Amino acid sequence: TSAISIRGLHKTYGNDFQALKGVDLEVQQGDFFALLGPNGAGKSTTIGILSSLVNKSSGQVSVFGHDLDTDLMNAKRCIGVVPQEFNFSQFEKTMDILVNQAGYYGIPLREARERAERYLKRLGLWDKRDEPSRMLSGGMKRRLMIARALIHEPKLLILDEPTAGVDIEIRRSMWQFLQEINGRGITIVLTTHYLEEAEQLCKNIAIIDQGQIIHNTSMRELLLEL
Ligand code: ADP
Ligand code: ADP
Repeated sequence: TSAISIRGLHKTYGNDFQALKGVDLEVQQGDFFALLGPNGAGKSTTIGILSSLVNKSSGQVSVFGHDLDTDLMNAKRCIGVVPQEFNFSQFEKTMDILVNQAGYYGIPLREARERAERYLKRLGLWDKRDEPSRMLSGGMKRRLMIARALIHEPKLLILDEPTAGVDIEIRRSMWQFLQEINGRGITIVLTTHYLEEAEQLCKNIAIIDQGQIIHNTSMRELLLEL
């Protein structure tokens, strides 16, 4: 089974704005995959559908063989999502954000605390465990979102523009972390509008423009063509 299988995906916003016009996409298990395209191409819409935050208009989507229409619960357990916007309570403490998230997945408290500690340490946030999230810098918030997305140990991590607005040093350390977890077998899909980011990290790439996949190839072949 593929990590992600998308067939004939359409999304219309409002009455007639077609954001996705028949997207087909296959991502293999263990891949590090980039969805590259300019602003407005449909990247966030695709990710929104995969993470069941956006309703599709038509088409089929499955994650590790679990169809989103018929087997959503199991699909959700396979996926961790890092959205573009920082979207947790400004007042909740860093550690509590992770422990509460683990609670949604039914992870016992003790295990949740252990995992939270492990990720906070690994991502350089342990000193901030008792700080409310509003006290964190932009780069720290981004890393906290990654930790939160991983707390239920998903097989697939999806990141929407993970390093947008993050300075180069932090970007490189995030890249290194993502490569490390991919090396441990987690499939990664990210959207970006930086070719350089895709080039540094990804094995395979799809280029989306105006709601259509216009190119789908290995990173190596793409670079040979350029
Ligand atoms: P990207 O992530 O590649 O920048 P999006 O998926 O965010 O692209 O958007 C694709 C297109 O759909 C854009 O033209 C955007 O303006 C439009 N769009 C996105 N969300 C909505 C919405 N909720 N309502 C109407 N149009 C939307
Ligand atoms: P900024 O103020 O630019 O947002 P951050 O808050 O993201 O900076 O980073 C604060 C500190 O955490 C930096 O000194 C950085 O080197 C360190 N750091 C960043 N990413 C990681 C990581 N993945 N693991 C460990 N430490 C990190």
